Amino acid sequence: MGAFGWFWKAMGAQSERNDKKSKAIVNDSAAATQSLAQLSDAEVAQHARDAVRDGAIADKSAFLAALAVASERRLGMHPFNVQSQAVLRLLEGDVIQMATGEGKTLVGAMAATGFALTGKRVHLVTVNNYLAERDAEWMRPLVEFFGLTVASVTEKLDQDSRRAAYRSDIIYAPVNELGFDVLRDNQITDRSQTVQARADVALVDEADSVLVDEALVPLVLAGNRPGEAPTGHITNVVSRLREDLDYTIAEDGRTVALTDDGAARVERELGIDSLYSEENIGTILVKVNLALHAKALLIRDIHYIVTDGKLQLIDASRGRVADLQRWPDGLQAAVEAKEGLEVSEGGRILDTVTLQELMRRYPLVCGMTGTAVEATDQLRQFYDLHVSVIDRNKELRRFDEADRIYATAEEKNKAIVEEIIAIHSTGQPVLVGTHDVAESEDLAEVLRERGIDVNVLNAKNDAEEARIVAEAGDIGRVTVSTQMAGRGTDIKLGGADEGDHDTVADLGGLAVIGTTRHRTARLDNQLRGRAGRQGDPGLSLFFVSLEDDVVRQGGEDESLSAQPGPDGRIESKRVSDFIAHCQRVTEGQLLEIHAQTWKYNQLLADQRIIIDERRAVLLDTDQAWKEFQQRAPQKAAALEALPEETRVAAAREIMLYHLDLAWADHLELMDDVRESIHLRAIARQTPIDEYHRIAVREFKQLAQRAVDQAVETFNDVLIDEDGAHLNDLGLSRPSATWTYMVSDNPLSGSGNSVMSSIGNIFR
Ligand code: ADP
Ligand code: MG
Repeated sequence: MGAFGWFWKAMGAQSERNDKKSKAIVNDSAAATQSLAQLSDAEVAQHARDAVRDGAIADKSAFLAALAVASERRLGMHPFNVQSQAVLRLLEGDVIQMATGEGKTLVGAMAATGFALTGKRVHLVTVNNYLAERDAEWMRPLVEFFGLTVASVTEKLDQDSRRAAYRSDIIYAPVNELGFDVLRDNQITDRSQTVQARADVALVDEADSVLVDEALVPLVLAGNRPGEAPTGHITNVVSRLREDLDYTIAEDGRTVALTDDGAARVERELGIDSLYSEENIGTILVKVNLALHAKALLIRDIHYIVTDGKLQLIDASRGRVADLQRWPDGLQAAVEAKEGLEVSEGGRILDTVTLQELMRRYPLVCGMTGTAVEATDQLRQFYDLHVSVIDRNKELRRFDEADRIYATAEEKNKAIVEEIIAIHSTGQPVLVGTHDVAESEDLAEVLRERGIDVNVLNAKNDAEEARIVAEAGDIGRVTVSTQMAGRGTDIKLGGADEGDHDTVADLGGLAVIGTTRHRTARLDNQLRGRAGRQGDPGLSLFFVSLEDDVVRQGGEDESLSAQPGPDGRIESKRVSDFIAHCQRVTEGQLLEIHAQTWKYNQLLADQRIIIDERRAVLLDTDQAWKEFQQRAPQKAAALEALPEETRVAAAREIMLYHLDLAWADHLELMDDVRESIHLRAIARQTPIDEYHRIAVREFKQLAQRAVDQAVETFNDVLIDEDGAHLNDLGLSRPSATWTYMVSDNPLSGSGNSVMSSIGNIFR
């Protein structure tokens, strides 16, 4: 807290006041609900509309009462008071923290309806396609009660269906689909081709996941272009390098560096003078580093899997296969080469946007999650968002056991297996959260050998995943999942139909076991939150060893002495405090990485706003034609005979073509600069300053170059009744485009990676 203690106190007082006020409003609304009971549906809907004045909800309790009646009539759920309070906080633009199973889906729909009633269009942002579709259909009757429209946009929708869906008042969509549509809309040459309609509000479900964990994931739109072949020779040379002799891996497992001997060996084998010469530093050295990174730091079955001759990334924060994700092109190619796979074509990057940039485009952002408090700093720093904590409807009856700490990973893993078997023998369902795919499979294998039937969850199908997780509360069920599996799904005791609810409750409810502490307490708490839903009993228990990544990284350079028992267990407050300390250190490291990376992204984000504005002017006015009239008067005069519409459209197309091309060139250049910039640190330049200097200089030239080239094209190209024949000059836009997400930080959140790579760790 330090010097800012006063600030926190002030914030606390503020939110308490809000809390009292909103509780009073909610109490009033309960009374108002009674009086609406006799009214028809249409009258109740009108009552809600009457509560709106001047684009804001003036009478909040009347509004909440109407929503409660509608929810009861259409969804069979009467909102709990805490849910109504949460709705008020969302309408104020906060991120609410509400525990798993407390009914955030209904809260989100009520708040979205409130925004829509005041004339605002809402994007309800979900973490996957499955939830977008599920929630839109589930909440549809509530939204339509008020004469409003709702739709979902998912991966499978074609352009026309998307366009129609985006015209609704409330749109449920996964965050990447929203971003891809923004990128594609930035390539159009006529306003009528726009797919996404502007929204006023982003209401983000699982807000910490989208706004913090995945914030810097770039969404990419690429177009076809025969790419340059990656150099197989470099991969070969690098594949023969030996750890500790030719290269060293840093203690944190994030960086790898050539030793002097290693560098000399590479130079010899490639037949070059120096890797660090001016001529090689931006090209060969970059490729060598990528190949080395792929070889030394990216481990099959931890960071990626290979299926059907293709590389599939494992999403670090969710621990499952990430469809449509790629690493930055060079790295992807390097790993493909290392695995002997056909190197997939990167194509040409046309445009890219990070989730953080995407979210900052909305005039208002609010959100909900079970774990917001621990992300308070990030939410304030990056989005200026305030966190409101909503009480539970029923008291928590989950028992969170103290961590069980072991000296070595081996002793810990033995204990995990025995504990699962012991709990399972009573019939209590067990959900185990592991760190990565390899660990989940190792554990499942050992449990099966001990005669236990195990569901393993590292599926890539969201719907299938949701079903397995939903079944995880059944009698005697053991489910082993990768971390974070099943955000958004509800684990009911006694199976999805709650048939054996009371039996399972008597057994103690769901037992959640974590096989290690995560790098952030938030991820731990997401896992814990799977148990103890809506006042159910439950248990959570984490195992940690002093060899775990979080301890090694967070406790680097610190020494600790402890006296383990005969089974390796350490019971000491000092040691458990130390582990909590290690986790705070790793959290701090993640925040620092986020802040640093954002510094790089922010300037480009500002520059793209300028590009967007220029694009909008070119699309919506005849500015392009006017500029050509000035810069190429003869050619313009020669075209006067053509219909105005044709002339203006041709001018627009030419201008946009060169603007988009210049922007794509700029992104590509800045990407290269960023990849090689840390090398400039060797030359004692501060990388970020250097990066900014180059970005600003290049951007200035970009605008001028785009116009100059457009004028040249305008003079050269044939323009007739059919428009500008850009194809003739080889200036066509890509005939095919595709989208993907880049996992820019392949090592974030990885588990006990080094150990997992050497055989089954549970044996
Ligand atoms: P969360 O997103 O907060 O984890 P969900 O929206 O998935 O929770 O809801 C969890 C469960 O609670 C669902 O089965 C839902 O039907 C139920 N539920 C939510 N609100 C109410 C309510 N007011 N009355 C009865 N059941 C509710
Ligand atoms: Mg949810």
